[in-house]
Amino acid sequence: MSSSLHVPLESLTGATRRPIASPAPGRAFHIETFGCQMNVHDSEKVSGVLLERGYHPVDDPAAADVIFYNTCSIREKAAQKVFSRLGLHRGPAGHGKIIGVLGCVAQQEGEEIFERAPWVSLVCGSASYRRLPDLLAQIEAGNRRVMGLDTDTDETFETEITRRDNPFRAYLTIIEGCDKACSYCVVPFTRGPERSRASDSILREVGELASFGYSEIQLLGQTVNSYRDPSPRSMTFAGLLLAVADTPGIRRVRFTTSHPRDFGPDIVAAIDAHPSICNHVHLPVQSGSTAVLRRMLRTYTRDEYLEKIAMLRAARRPISLSTDFIVGFPGETGADFADTLSLLDAAQYDQIFSFKFSPRPNTSAEHMDDDISEAEKGIRLAALLDHQREIQLARNHSLLGEAFEVLVDNRGHKPGQWAGRTTSNRVVNFPSPRTDLLGQYVQVRVVQAGPNSLLGELS
Ligand code: SAM
Ligand code: SF4
Repeated sequence: MSSSLHVPLESLTGATRRPIASPAPGRAFHIETFGCQMNVHDSEKVSGVLLERGYHPVDDPAAADVIFYNTCSIREKAAQKVFSRLGLHRGPAGHGKIIGVLGCVAQQEGEEIFERAPWVSLVCGSASYRRLPDLLAQIEAGNRRVMGLDTDTDETFETEITRRDNPFRAYLTIIEGCDKACSYCVVPFTRGPERSRASDSILREVGELASFGYSEIQLLGQTVNSYRDPSPRSMTFAGLLLAVADTPGIRRVRFTTSHPRDFGPDIVAAIDAHPSICNHVHLPVQSGSTAVLRRMLRTYTRDEYLEKIAMLRAARRPISLSTDFIVGFPGETGADFADTLSLLDAAQYDQIFSFKFSPRPNTSAEHMDDDISEAEKGIRLAALLDHQREIQLARNHSLLGEAFEVLVDNRGHKPGQWAGRTTSNRVVNFPSPRTDLLGQYVQVRVVQAGPNSLLGELS
């Protein structure tokens, strides 16, 4: 997945709204973002740093003086994409432009990037963004190769302003990095150690976002529920959820991604207690086989994971569930994969994200025998998706006739259609001749159900 930032200037937000230097003529920037929501939000903050320095955003990379790629290295394919993008600026096409590589590929490849693409001027890893103003100042002073790659930090990336790319739903990182050590994962290496942001700073920003008209807040972290307030207030994650939900003007609070080990009953109690906390939990399982989970170093067994699901299913509000799977992990037998399929039946997810195992540098699984062929990985992935499709279809069918509050966040695929999400994160499309629905909350009754979305009518 990649996205470019197209951001209305009125969606600038920040701890301190200082006047922004008027854009210097000719100093235009373009950022393309690959990967997860955390990367999307990092790009919003990087844009804020550039705006503060007088740069202005452009949609067309050809019109930009500064082009940044905010990269993802979670799977090999994602990392390769970046080098093909960099190839576009080889020779005359890149003359006079500052090309920068940010994010996880920058952290992973480091100086190598200058070797492979000598026209790149800036390499800055995800754990070093707080150094970005300094790195930019060095480039502006004529330095042609600058690099920020520290991971030994206890600081988080907080900016004076953030250029948010959605006028009603705001991302907010509350915890950066990761202290887990899943054997397949590059994140602890690329994003550094876990560090949480102080609760008062988070709540101040939430209050500001509400005053600018944002009604939905999405709290982000690789293991968002491992949040530990570093301030004397020592707020728990559940306490923080409640405090964010209590902020006047905030109607929805989402959070992603939760780690099963740190998912306790207090989070379920918070969802039950406050209707503004969305009744959707993304709880990646990765495999249904305890043997595979052990080799993945996930720190829970299949049964322990299913106990968490039972706890969520016992909530007073119906909580919708989504998850991530990796298929074809080294040594995954047919029986292990059958355990994954049977977990789908037991957990009854509303959505899954599934990936073929991809060996990554610096991870312990890199040295395991990647013994499942690409063809077999493909077969397992298709079987998993087929099985889940049936489950989703049945679950969505059970919603026919029910009415839900939907936050309208897009135009539908068909003319005259709108699309939005329920608090349980289900996508609902519905027809309406109205032209002013973007960002509005409306009641929609479900009249048709497919595996991936619902069709409704305004009620
Ligand atoms: N922190 C989250 C967690 O603990 O589940 C997810 C982090 S990662 C950005 C998102 C997903 O990518 C993971 O849940 C996993 O399914 C997938 N992933 C990570 N490393 C992978 C690899 N080496 N090969 C295939 N998929 C991978
Ligand atoms: Fe990666 Fe595991 Fe940390 Fe998630 S919890 S970011 S999968 S190491």
